[in-house]
Amino acid sequence: MGTKEDERLFCLIDEAAQKYNHKVKSASFEKFKDFKVTWNRNGSEKSYRISDYISDSPDDVLYDFLDTLISRMTGRKKGYGPEYLEWVSSDGFVLSKRPIYLERSRNISMSTSGVHRDIGGSLDRLLESGLLTDSDIDNSYFTWTIGPGFTKVGSCNAMFRVVTISSSLDSPDVPEKVLDFVTYHESLHLGRGYRPNRRAHDLTFRESEHRFPGWEECEKHLMKMKKTKEK
Ligand SMILES: [Zn+2]
Repeated sequence: MGTKEDERLFCLIDEAAQKYNHKVKSASFEKFKDFKVTWNRNGSEKSYRISDYISDSPDDVLYDFLDTLISRMTGRKKGYGPEYLEWVSSDGFVLSKRPIYLERSRNISMSTSGVHRDIGGSLDRLLESGLLTDSDIDNSYFTWTIGPGFTKVGSCNAMFRVVTISSSLDSPDVPEKVLDFVTYHESLHLGRGYRPNRRAHDLTFRESEHRFPGWEECEKHLMKMKKTKEK
C-alpha cells in the first residue's frame, strides 16, 4: 500500500526505534504545509506522519532526523546531528523546498510591495545602517500577508527562510520605523539560521534586537495597535 518512499521511511524509523525499544506500526510522508511530525497511538505502537520536505533526503540524513525524533519521543533529549542540520540548512534544500512551502501557504501576497509601504525599502535601510548584513538575509524570501493580523505582526520560518510581515503594518498610520523594527526582528531570526528545539528569543537575541534605535517606542506602538484592535 505504501509508496517506495514510505517503505524506505519505515525501514529507517524502525531501525531507529529498535535502538530505543520503541514500536512503530507505520510511517508515511505527508504534504504538510509546515515541517512537522504527527503521530497516533495504536496500543503500544505508534504511527508516524512526517513532512514530505525530507522525503528525498539521503538515508543518513533521514536516519539522523528519525533517530533524534524517536529519542525525544521516548523522553531523551538527543539533539540533531550534522547530517540532518547541514542538509536542511543548505542553499539547495532551501531553494528546492521553499517554492513548495510558499505554494502551500495561504494568506501571503508573495510580494514585498504593499499599498503604502515596501519591505524592500525597510531592508535597504537596515543594511545601510549596519544593523543587518547581507549574510543575515542571504537566500531569503520576504512577503506581506494578505489579511491583516494584529496579534502576530511578523513571523519567520527559518527553515525555508521566509519572513512574513502582517499587512496591518502596510498603512500610513504606522510609522516606517515600526515596520523597520518588525523587519529587523524577523531578519535576526534568519541571521541565526535554522535552530530546531532551541529557544528563539533568548538573551543573545534580545541583545541584538535592542540595538535597534528606538525599539521601545516601536514596541509600544505595536502594543497600542494590538489593544485598539482587541476592543
Ligand atoms: Zn521572534
